[in-house]
Amino acid sequence: MRVAVAVGVSTPPVATMRSSCTRRIVAVSYRFVSMHMAAAPLSRTLSTESVAARLTSAGLLRTKGLIGANWTDARDGKTMPVYNPSTGEVIADVPFMGSKDTEDAIEEIGQLITLEQGKPLKEAIGEVNYGASFIEYFAEEAKRIYGDIIPPTLNDRRILVLKQPIGVIAAITPWNFPLAMITRKVGPALACGCTAVIKPSELTPFTALAAVELALQAGIPPGVLNVVMGDAPAIGDALMANTRVRKITFTGSTAVGKKLMAGAAGTVKKVSLELGGNAPCIIFDDADLDVAVKGTLGSKFRNSGQTCVCANRILVQDGIYDKFAAAFSKAVQILQVGDGFSEGASQGPLINDAAIEKVESFVEDAVSKGADVLLGGKRHSLGRTFYEPTVLGNISSDMIVSREEVFGPVAPLMRFKTEEEAISIANDTNAGLAAYIFTTNVQRSWRVTEALEYGLVGVNEGVISTEVAPFGGVKQSGLGREGSKYGMDEYLEMKYVCLGDMNRK
Ligand code: ADP
Repeated sequence: MRVAVAVGVSTPPVATMRSSCTRRIVAVSYRFVSMHMAAAPLSRTLSTESVAARLTSAGLLRTKGLIGANWTDARDGKTMPVYNPSTGEVIADVPFMGSKDTEDAIEEIGQLITLEQGKPLKEAIGEVNYGASFIEYFAEEAKRIYGDIIPPTLNDRRILVLKQPIGVIAAITPWNFPLAMITRKVGPALACGCTAVIKPSELTPFTALAAVELALQAGIPPGVLNVVMGDAPAIGDALMANTRVRKITFTGSTAVGKKLMAGAAGTVKKVSLELGGNAPCIIFDDADLDVAVKGTLGSKFRNSGQTCVCANRILVQDGIYDKFAAAFSKAVQILQVGDGFSEGASQGPLINDAAIEKVESFVEDAVSKGADVLLGGKRHSLGRTFYEPTVLGNISSDMIVSREEVFGPVAPLMRFKTEEEAISIANDTNAGLAAYIFTTNVQRSWRVTEALEYGLVGVNEGVISTEVAPFGGVKQSGLGREGSKYGMDEYLEMKYVCLGDMNRK
């Protein structure tokens, strides 16, 4: 019922949204200016004390720092005086803040992500920047929603194409990127003039709520963004059934994505899906070893292996296998496991018990079928859901770890002999999101890139997501693209207009 109310918000055309935002800004500015005008004209005969008192009562002499929405003292309580240069009198003391206070101001959303999702603070702050990049990119892109004029085949008519907002959209998002997966959907939706109902993961709702609070503070009109959370299947069903919801955009598991796609059929909604991957990372004999180790490490261990673009199968050619296995294990050994707020930790906990039990079962299955544990291979001594960064060797295609996403800090190494064999293993999956190759041979990099059945390919690079490039998978990894100019089309309808009777005199 609540969902129905939330999606009952009508879709304001872009122009209306812009003008109501503008009206709001104008109203606030006017209030600010009139407050100043209302004050008596300043006179040199007024004392520092009386001016300060009047400004204080008007709320305009602020003596604290502003962090988030709160007026804040320095962490250590230190203050510094500010003087009137004319008289030498102290006007007031303000907090003497340092680097820690500054970090507080920058890190708030990052801290929230670390708090509810577990990833190390540095990585969480990286996600804040990545998340913000979608808002910035699509705010700019809103200016380029071009239509088209098509030459007609009959001379008494003219043909135009208009792009219009699709309407109310529903965005269902996962826990592994609690901010960026929302902004990647909501950024283009707002730019196109759509309203949105956001359904964040129940495991990480706080970041979503903070993000919409910031949107309200920034002047997004009430009703444009809505957030619901709780009984995911019930919410999903209500969104699917509602005829006013014209698009569903989802990031999450393949199983839920298929359900949503089937559900969307009932009201013929536009659907875009970012689903699971099974990313191959292919290291050829001619790879630069350092580049391959660094790239594979970045791809595999980001967010403790909990991203759908993390390398899931590391295919290593015979001639470089031993050298790569040794160098890679050495690099993985240095990774520090710990609470996301602890200094130096680059590997946080897994999201919950189900996640660590899955990782454990995949490793047990591999070992029972002949895999070698080169590093780790068990729960971390920190307990709870911490798992040791793990490298497994001698992986074969009958092991679960080579067929399904492990979504944890486990790097399985498979040996191959020829380029054809590597391509065949890489494509032998229903998934098709990200793939990585490491080679110094230009011809090979083109050949293999073109042969890989994947939506994204990193060549000598392990971390490739960016707001300016299209993100999305082929086969059962999804439908549609997010980010970049291509991400806009998902939120637009095209209208063909035929102007007839043009030759009437
Ligand atoms: P994961 O296994 O990564 O948590 P899910 O696909 O289960 O992936 O979850 C991704 C998002 O989909 C979450 O917001 C979750 O609450 C939501 N979700 C799960 N089941 C359904 C459903 N039946 N209908 C709509 N949303 C769902």
